[in-house]
Amino acid sequence: MASSRTNLTAAFVGGLIAVSAVIGLMSWTVRNASIYRDIGHYAGTEADLATTLLLDAGEGVQAVVVGPDTAAETLTITPRLGAMLSAFPNYLVVKDRNGIPIFQSAAVKRLSDADSALLADQLANLPVDGPAGLLSLTTEDERILLVARSVAKQGMLGKVVVGVPTNEATALPREYMYAFFFLIPLIGLAGWGAWQMLGLNSQRIEKITHDVAAISDGRSLHRRLSIENAGLEFEQLVATLNAMIERLETSFMGLRRFTADASHELKTPLAVLRADVERAMSEPTHNERLVALEEALHETTRMADLVESLLTLARADEGRFDIHREPIELKPLVEDVYETALILGEAAGVAVNLPFTADVTVMGDRTRLRQLFLNLITNAIKYTPAGGKVDIGLGLHPDNVTFAVRDTGIGIAAADVPYIFERFWRADRVRSRMSERGGFGLGLAISQWIAQAHGGTLTASSRLGRGSLFTVTLPLPSPAQKS
Ligand code: ADP
Repeated sequence: MASSRTNLTAAFVGGLIAVSAVIGLMSWTVRNASIYRDIGHYAGTEADLATTLLLDAGEGVQAVVVGPDTAAETLTITPRLGAMLSAFPNYLVVKDRNGIPIFQSAAVKRLSDADSALLADQLANLPVDGPAGLLSLTTEDERILLVARSVAKQGMLGKVVVGVPTNEATALPREYMYAFFFLIPLIGLAGWGAWQMLGLNSQRIEKITHDVAAISDGRSLHRRLSIENAGLEFEQLVATLNAMIERLETSFMGLRRFTADASHELKTPLAVLRADVERAMSEPTHNERLVALEEALHETTRMADLVESLLTLARADEGRFDIHREPIELKPLVEDVYETALILGEAAGVAVNLPFTADVTVMGDRTRLRQLFLNLITNAIKYTPAGGKVDIGLGLHPDNVTFAVRDTGIGIAAADVPYIFERFWRADRVRSRMSERGGFGLGLAISQWIAQAHGGTLTASSRLGRGSLFTVTLPLPSPAQKS
């Protein structure tokens, strides 16, 4: 398959040749038309001159012989007139009133029999005083433009016909050959230029293709394409590809981190589980075995929770998670969650309050909304030391509904706030894993997904050591959904 470089160069050179040929043909046609016009004019002038000589050259010369009355005027060629007419270089025929030729120039006499017959034929049908048309001679390669004039005084006396060869008009002029010789190298040069320029473009495309292939093997996603002074299109292409590579890099890194984190999170409970089972097998007493098995069960539950969370996020990423939307009255749901919060708070020594609620219905998934509210409340209790306070509030606004959880807990450093919704993110991994609080850092990621899946948002504001405020904003149902 020919490369696009070859095809484009061939098309360019072909186009140049076609355009040159059309321009040449057009200029030749225009030139021929003007030469024909000039020849016609020249022949007409010659015929007029001959007519004037015939009629007005004066006594003894002119061809008009006056008879006893004007009706008897005839044309006759006097010797002096004959000598003068012989000086006409082209074809000249003078006919009398009856169509009998009374003078023929030397050129006419030289014609072969066949051409003479052709000329006679044409002369018989010749319109007078107008362009007479072309006669192609058979024996010689010549075309003659014929023009006729009437010789008339009182009445019609005869005809003068002048014929001028037109070969000059149809012959290819030498200038065309010169133009041709100049044109060929020029077209060659243009073709070469096009080939070089396309070659440069091909090189750039090859470089980009090569670089993209090298980058996209997955290990070099940190690299970027570079191409300078290559024209706007290439720079735009490179910028677009670089933006794409950057997005790929971000999602690749996210994916890698996610896999590494997930494996890491599974590794610890598995190791603990193994140790517990080994201990249960080696413990001699029933009670100690039970303790080990209980711990094993605890770790299994933790792992099951982690896998459940991972599955939720994986499905959410794929867009495969169905949110069953139905009208949900939020007040009873929040009160229900509050009941649970009270129990959790009591165990942790944290006071939980519900200072305000509102009667409001949203379109949503009851289970998911409950999970979202509980996640925020458990976090608030988890990260608030004993003696602290957690306030829950459900507010109705003109455009939306908010569910807010405010705590007086440990808070989050300002620099960390942007990352808290990332998967596996924890403020202090070691501490949280080691301590009883230890979560997987997936709760907020799932909570944010639930809020977004409901067309809402989850935002956080926090100050280290002062406490945090998490706010879920949900849209109000549209009038159509309400009914
Ligand atoms: P985890 O299971 O670790 O709680 P989350 O995704 O729910 O995971 O939270 C991520 C991290 O955000 C937590 O590890 C904690 O550091 C921080 N965090 C979440 N909620 C609060 C809060 N109310 N107060 C202080 N820190 C919080």
